[in-house]
Amino acid sequence: MKSFDVPIIYRSPLITAIKKKRKEQDKMKRDFTPTLLDLGSLQIYLARHFGFCYGVENAIEIAFRTIEENPGKKIFLLSEMIHNPQVNLDLQSHGVQFMQDNYGNQLIPFDELTPDDIVIIPAFGTTLELEKKLNDLGIQTEKYNTTCPFVEKVWNRSEQIARKNYTIIVHGKPKHEETRATFSHAAANAPSVIVKDMQQAIELGRYIKGEKPAEQFYNEFESQFSDKFDVTKDLGRIGVVNQTTMLASDTQAIADHLKQVMIEKYKLTLQTIEERFADTRDTLCYATLENQQAVSGMLQTDADLAIVVGGYNSSNTSHLVELCEEKLPTYFISSEEEILSANEIRHFNFHTKEEVLTSGYLPQKQPVRILITSGASCPDALVEAVVNKLISFFSVKLTTAEAISKF
Ligand code: SF4
Repeated sequence: MKSFDVPIIYRSPLITAIKKKRKEQDKMKRDFTPTLLDLGSLQIYLARHFGFCYGVENAIEIAFRTIEENPGKKIFLLSEMIHNPQVNLDLQSHGVQFMQDNYGNQLIPFDELTPDDIVIIPAFGTTLELEKKLNDLGIQTEKYNTTCPFVEKVWNRSEQIARKNYTIIVHGKPKHEETRATFSHAAANAPSVIVKDMQQAIELGRYIKGEKPAEQFYNEFESQFSDKFDVTKDLGRIGVVNQTTMLASDTQAIADHLKQVMIEKYKLTLQTIEERFADTRDTLCYATLENQQAVSGMLQTDADLAIVVGGYNSSNTSHLVELCEEKLPTYFISSEEEILSANEIRHFNFHTKEEVLTSGYLPQKQPVRILITSGASCPDALVEAVVNKLISFFSVKLTTAEAISKF
């Protein structure tokens, strides 16, 4: 895969050495066992895949290049470029301003823009409506567009489905920038609905089967269906696409459920299913799949706790947390600063959206075994900082340079 010019502060010599060694040993990426950093009283297991993905590195390269090439110009980002607080703060410290928050609320009015200004489109992409608004204001959008090619692939897939007259069901978080962008592209081509989870997929299935009064749909799925959507007519032929960062098992279960609903409602067979249900695979991106597979591989290891590093509004990171939580105590942290001491850790509960302080998170035993991974928008430097912070609580003599020399 292409390599990108990303500021060195985001890189980690230790993690780079580990990743390089693993890549050399396993070119086909078939081995999902974690990497053991054996420090005696502390054993750290790093997931096989984690950290910056293609789309994030691409977006960071374009954003920092734009800053460098345009001194004196006003530079805006439509919203957070990626869901990592450190990267977003770094961009702001270089004078970049965010026009909207994560939920599409306006922070800077569009009428403050002039054709001379630069507006960067984030890795999640944007809606057709916003793109048009920027073009109408004379702002060039192509040159500073960091939309990830894997997101564009989902848009292309929905276009293909729409061409065959299927209604598009988007499995994603309705307020997430990427889902809003995908929904906008889908709705330009066909009737479209967003389902956020299995519960909503089940409810949608009940409308398909006619088990619920049609009028109720418009309240229940408020803001999640396209203009002029007719629940009595538009659910007779459907196809599913998804936000690239969803949990693979959820996405599969939702597609399977809706397929089964169509089979039952229209008495379909495997030969006739395509008359009503588009035959597509999920549209998760490679990084989401690899990171989730690597967590599953890492969870085969007996350990005391897991630490997941990433932005608290990062969808792909929260799914890694979800997987770890099923198996062992898991702490979702944005940086090493959340590890307050050997006794206390401040971490994020993404179910309640609250920060929590936990005491006694490190067991009183030896060795302590910790699993570590991070999301696709998390710099490796943050993971190294977490490793170093943990090492500082143990009587480990190994320096980072010595650790690197082992890889
Ligand atoms: S997580 Fe996937 S879709 Fe999102 S930016 Fe990274 S590679 Fe692209």
